[in-house]
Amino acid sequence: MSDANLNFLSKIAELLIKDIDVSELIQNLKIIINDYTVISDLNIFVYDSVTNTIRDCADSWSIVDDSSPIYKSFEDIKNNDFVINTKAYKLPSMISDLTLKLDSLHIPIIKSEKVFGIIEINFKENTSVNISFLSLMKIFASQVSLKLQNIVLSEQSKVNVEFHDSMKNIAKIIETQYELNYIVPIIGEMLDRFITDHLIYVFLKQNDKFMLVWPKACKDDRIYDALNQLTPESEYILTNNDKIGAFPLMSEDGELIGGIVARSTLDALSKRDISYLEQLTRQSAITINRANSYSKILQYATIDALTNLNNRRQFELRLGQEIAAAKRQNNPLCAMMIDIDFFKKVNDTYGHASGDAVLRGVASIIKSTLRESDIPSRYGGEEFAILLPYTHIKEAEIVGERLRNAVETSPLPINDENSDIKTINVTISMGLAEFINDETGEELFERADNALYEAKKSGRNKVCVA
Ligand code: GH3
Ligand code: MG
Ligand code: MG
Repeated sequence: MSDANLNFLSKIAELLIKDIDVSELIQNLKIIINDYTVISDLNIFVYDSVTNTIRDCADSWSIVDDSSPIYKSFEDIKNNDFVINTKAYKLPSMISDLTLKLDSLHIPIIKSEKVFGIIEINFKENTSVNISFLSLMKIFASQVSLKLQNIVLSEQSKVNVEFHDSMKNIAKIIETQYELNYIVPIIGEMLDRFITDHLIYVFLKQNDKFMLVWPKACKDDRIYDALNQLTPESEYILTNNDKIGAFPLMSEDGELIGGIVARSTLDALSKRDISYLEQLTRQSAITINRANSYSKILQYATIDALTNLNNRRQFELRLGQEIAAAKRQNNPLCAMMIDIDFFKKVNDTYGHASGDAVLRGVASIIKSTLRESDIPSRYGGEEFAILLPYTHIKEAEIVGERLRNAVETSPLPINDENSDIKTINVTISMGLAEFINDETGEELFERADNALYEAKKSGRNKVCVA
């Protein structure tokens, strides 16, 4: 073997022992081959037996359009060694003094005697090849083959790991949450993040009709058509072109309580997609069912399970009482509305469990900063409503500012399993209003809420007074 060939193969060997992903692999192969002979491009295609399609490795494994000549190459190359300029050849019976003008060269990647993929090399004009070069490419392809098989396997297992993470996360939501308005969007987001080539819709049945709960809008009639075909007995419904799949959400006693619909933006749903979606839908149904039974139990509760503050229902009860008392005794009364700043980012960055931990942390600062007579509550999501009886607005401002500062300066514990970060800091925005005679509790908090809106608008981490 010539020095140049040896040098080429040893560079390839050096590359293949590195821990690289497929796009780095292709980039580096291009460089090494270009050192040897001038090429214009290099691609790698892999056959995906699950979907019976060919995927472009350099283009995030996207499915190659079936009109592409690469499909024919996969056929032609089976009993041959190469496809050169769309014609198949076999070594060594090939014309011995072959000096072909090269346009494109397809080299098979073989796994267990089957064509697993094709390396495509496109050449600059006027490149000619000889047998020695082709033999070299054959060795080259067998070197790359193992590496590529490894990469494909590890990409697949990554998908599996992500799938199990999604399953686990859906199961985990329920630990502290029971409001469907909160849970269902999280499920939607998780499915959406996992199933990237498809749009996901989550519906719950209300009075015999499917109501969209996530995302905000669905204008596609075919989605509703698929949904309406669901019965308690159906496993799932696929549209004719297999691009829309509707999966039933079932209650524990076998009733249809909703549905999850996936609409593919690219290809038909594959067997693998369907299997994942079936399992994720089943897990989602378990979570939704548990939330339903929790909320039945908690109908009579007064305390919010996550933060141990008053819940919204109890808050409204106390608000009525305090307004009546303030009027009767002519005592001052203030309303405080709090919203955590950029809370969605906490969830997105550290996960919902960490978001929950932050909510608990802020609640505990609220409790420890306020007086015994104050009435704090979790108003909803990441909003807190607080009543300050016997308090004028000037004092409320002082208390509010102290609370705002306490939150800003307290590192809050989070439980991010995937990193070393153990605490984070958040800020809150706050709106304050003092009760004016004859207004209702609702009106009082509406004014506090408007002040909160001002605090958000003017830069957050602020206290504003109505
Ligand atoms: P802004 O500063 O404008 O308030 O930004 P934001 O991101 O806080 O506002 P937004 O209202 O867009 O996001 C609130 C987020 O709070 C969205 C929702 O998923 C999340 N959330 C609501 N309730 C809970 C909960 O109980 N736990 C967790 N982890 N997140 C919650
Ligand atoms: Mg909010
Ligand atoms: Mg917020």
